[in-house]
Amino acid sequence: MRGINISLLFLLLQSGPGHCAAPAYELYLKGELLKAATAYFALADAAPENPRPMLNAAACLKQAGRYYEAAAALVRALNRDPQNPDIYSELGWLRFHQADYDGARSAFEAAIRLREQHPRAELGLASVYSNLDEKEKTLEHLDKYRRLRPDFAGVDYILAWNYMNFKMHKEAEEALVEALRKDPSFTEARLPLAGIYARQGKFNEAWNQYYRVLDYAPGHPVASKMMKVLEGKLTKQPEEIRPPFRITKPLVMEPLDALASLSSSVKIRVGIGTGTTGKQGRNNFLRIKSFEGLTVTGKASGKVYAAIPPDETWTLAEEGDKVKLTAADGTVYGRFAGTIMVKPAKAGGTVIFDATSKTRNPWFSGADRQYRGYIEFYPNGSRGIGVVNVIENELYLLGVVPSEVAPQWPYESLKAQAVLARTQVLIRRARGGQHKKDGYHLCDGQHCQAYKGKSNEANTTNRAVVDTEGEILTYHGRPAYTFYHSNCGGWIQASKEVTGWGDSPYLVTKPDIAPDKVQAPLDPWEHHLWLTGNPEANCNYPGRVRASEFRWMKIIRHKDMTFRVNMEYPVGEVVDIIPLRRSPSGNVNTMKIVGRKRSVTVTKEHMIRNILGFSSLKCTLFEIETNRFKNGKVRNYWLYGGGWGHAIGMCQSGAAGLAGKYDKSYKEIMEFYFPGTNLRRIKYVKKAKSGEL
Ligand SMILES: [Zn+2]
Ligand SMILES: [Zn+2]
Repeated sequence: MRGINISLLFLLLQSGPGHCAAPAYELYLKGELLKAATAYFALADAAPENPRPMLNAAACLKQAGRYYEAAAALVRALNRDPQNPDIYSELGWLRFHQADYDGARSAFEAAIRLREQHPRAELGLASVYSNLDEKEKTLEHLDKYRRLRPDFAGVDYILAWNYMNFKMHKEAEEALVEALRKDPSFTEARLPLAGIYARQGKFNEAWNQYYRVLDYAPGHPVASKMMKVLEGKLTKQPEEIRPPFRITKPLVMEPLDALASLSSSVKIRVGIGTGTTGKQGRNNFLRIKSFEGLTVTGKASGKVYAAIPPDETWTLAEEGDKVKLTAADGTVYGRFAGTIMVKPAKAGGTVIFDATSKTRNPWFSGADRQYRGYIEFYPNGSRGIGVVNVIENELYLLGVVPSEVAPQWPYESLKAQAVLARTQVLIRRARGGQHKKDGYHLCDGQHCQAYKGKSNEANTTNRAVVDTEGEILTYHGRPAYTFYHSNCGGWIQASKEVTGWGDSPYLVTKPDIAPDKVQAPLDPWEHHLWLTGNPEANCNYPGRVRASEFRWMKIIRHKDMTFRVNMEYPVGEVVDIIPLRRSPSGNVNTMKIVGRKRSVTVTKEHMIRNILGFSSLKCTLFEIETNRFKNGKVRNYWLYGGGWGHAIGMCQSGAAGLAGKYDKSYKEIMEFYFPGTNLRRIKYVKKAKSGEL
């Protein structure tokens, strides 16, 4: 630790004799971890009774990968605060990660002596015994941990990990199923479950699990490879293993008829069946039908080419650079080089895509899909057939709100979601946006906002759209950037903190806790306890919001981490991963990866999330611990995280909490997440007669 004296002098000059922790905290947030540690040590020297600066120094050193020095700082902190179980517990973890199992055990035991119910120390003891191959004791402490954190999917995952080590396959299977019940997106739990099924000869079940991995982690290399391996061993057709959702009769919504309740609104264009980047999927073949009948019209010519009777299924196939339309009886009705419009023959009708395994786009093979408005089809180069839903904005929102949030959530949070989604559309429609080149205003995935069409609609969310009809959020009279995310993990992040997001005065950082509660700023030590614990927050809402979105963990094997990182950056074997710059919310915005050959610094939000393991991290709010063998080689990486999404703007789960736990209205919810904005009701300007886009 060169430079201690200079930094210390600098701090003394800057802030007086070390009573102010702010500069040290600033250094920590900036990723100047060793300087931050030095500053905290200076504060510790200035206040010999206070354990806190020493604990903060330890937290900085740990994040910098200096586990030995961090442990020494914790021991010094214990001299000042010998009754603090959290210090013992963290000391145990630092020792555990350095393969000092005896030292770790005594520290964890001390923590539990001081506080009988200490989940992190129980997990620590279990991990120690697991490494010592002591089966009974491992399971005993994991069981205690499970009772202390019953909603946490990470418990069952670690339990399964141990059952597998102890060759208890039946128990491992049950624990993995339980982890996935709590968190269906838990790819790291789904893969070993698939492996267990494959070893038992349950090839259909194994194949299904790998398929579901691809739902959450498209292109996952292990899952893709294993599905091919298993294909020849399946005893059922893929459609029988995963029967597609079928639409067999018109959906009648009671008691609200949204279509009759809404006035006509501006038409928008939505790309359908798009991938993670919002581009259209590979649509080689599609089947369409309706309950009311359809007409097929040339967009340029205005000529009607065909009328499709109700309940008849016709097909569209790519043929060279044309789209071939074939009737149910096999008659070819045309090969189109331009755009055709398929419209319901009656007002209020829909276009239905009949699920088919002949299409390469999973969106159209996994389920029937149903859309209000009408559909445009066009030859789309190597992607096959382009599919765009042209639909009035308010009707589109009926399909968006239930795709973004759960229809059974507290009603005011549904209304907030409707307003934000409506505002997003108007911004993207006015600006052309990212999909201008693609020929639509929005895609139908998370990239813009999720939209699953009419079959996904629900009464509650339809009513939320009707009740807020035309309402948007504005700032200085213009539509506001109403970003939202699934779960912030307890703290909203300001847009200016994230590379490439820009600064908006209403996209600010704040704890996601009820407006009448005040929380002091965190320091590195407190942040660590907060992130690895189960703290109060609007979005910590058990029973309504998945606990696995608020807090999560995973363990990534060393070789997997090295493989994944080297797909992007040829750094050689990964030897350390160090979060550097953090937002005040705790989100990591700069991360250093140390490899044998070279090191890289990663700053893009999606890269930080995508590169740590094969399925992306839910959020950049995380800590990473490097677990090593006695000889210093890395065994694996332990990640503890919180939240799902970019943590900017409205926390959807937090909105549910504000409405459900604290009775807040949708106006109050939006004031909380977008301070300084106004709610305004717009009148849609009627377009010229046909309004075709
Ligand atoms: Zn998009
Ligand atoms: Zn939140």
